[in-house]
Amino acid sequence: MKTVLITGAAGFLGSHLCDRFIAEGYRVIGMDNFITGDKKNLKHLENHANFEFIEHDVTEFIKIDGDLDYILHFASPASPIDYLKIPIQTLKVGSLGTHNLLGLAKAKKARILIASTSEVYGDPLVHPQTEDYFGNVNTIGPRGVYDEAKRFQESITMAYHRYHSLETRIVRIFNTYGPRMRLNDGRVIPAFMGQALRGENLTIFGDGLQTRSFCYVSDQVEGIYRLLLSDYVYPVNIGNPNEITIKDFAEEIIKLTGTTQKIVYKDLPLGDPMQRQPDITLAKKLLDWEPKVGRAEGMQKTFNYFKSLTEEELYKSAHKDFSRFINK
Ligand code: NAD
Ligand code: UDP
Repeated sequence: MKTVLITGAAGFLGSHLCDRFIAEGYRVIGMDNFITGDKKNLKHLENHANFEFIEHDVTEFIKIDGDLDYILHFASPASPIDYLKIPIQTLKVGSLGTHNLLGLAKAKKARILIASTSEVYGDPLVHPQTEDYFGNVNTIGPRGVYDEAKRFQESITMAYHRYHSLETRIVRIFNTYGPRMRLNDGRVIPAFMGQALRGENLTIFGDGLQTRSFCYVSDQVEGIYRLLLSDYVYPVNIGNPNEITIKDFAEEIIKLTGTTQKIVYKDLPLGDPMQRQPDITLAKKLLDWEPKVGRAEGMQKTFNYFKSLTEEELYKSAHKDFSRFINK
């Protein structure tokens, strides 16, 4: 039985990855410090014979007994609101955390896959974004803490590959959604769905003409799984190329949820990218992968999840005014 360590296991993507590796017959060690994650996401694995959980901050030295075959490093705040609130932790988990995990991979002779992001392209001047585009990132803008941590993460990962011959993989994840996203994490899907469920107006930042391309979680997990088992060491985009403006997306959510509320417009946060769409030619060719779940199906599943939350969860996590964190 192979063993995989998954950091960020109590988060949205990490918990789905734990499920996938358990289903494939691996022994899974989940690690998290709960800074943006939730114990609830792993509750169903609590008594599973092949699952173990270690509460640990990966920016501190990591000690694991026994062998490791694979490491998936997914620990990091991922929502703009989260990384604006905890910028130093974001920089540390991408840099010191990644360094610790690369060191662990080297010591255990394990293969490591790191979770990078479309944010390495910044506010892109090339559209759709191909892996050979170097990006347009403002190092000192509010999003710089995340973008630069992820860019450093890619660089140190390649250095470990080149210098120590470590087996490394880099996935550039584009906006992914699905059940277990935190309702108050500030990302657009939980934000709009939470607002619809609470009977509040939907808040569009800016004029809503900025675009995103949303990938359902099961497609993302499939792409990551295939990339890990491939022999390709350079970054690979995984996302759904179906691009939509945030305004049209809000209209879709209004229809889906049946809310009678309106759209209201707020300031566009500084550095908010105007367009984002993955070019997935490489993933198609290399991994024989492409997304299977359309937005209508994925959004319905996600809405069913948010609807299943208790009243307390819905209101406990009510959308806060985060404006003091943005545009500074
Ligand atoms: P998430 O916030 O739900 O999960 C991140 C998890 O990492 C949380 O459980 C958090 O507690 C944990 N964590 C953070 N810092 C830690 C530390 N120092 N030590 C241990 N655990 C720590 O976010 P997510 O959407 O699941 O994102 C997971 C990864 O995927 C992140 O690395 C993110 O950058 C990347 N990513 C996600 C998306 C997306 O659309 N979901 C897009 C691009 C990249
Ligand atoms: N957005 C919005 N209203 C919200 C939350 C987000 O209009 O309540 C916009 C945000 O400004 C961005 C897009 O939706 O243009 C996607 O934001 P998200 O935080 O999900 O992720 P990003 O792709 O910016 O990292």
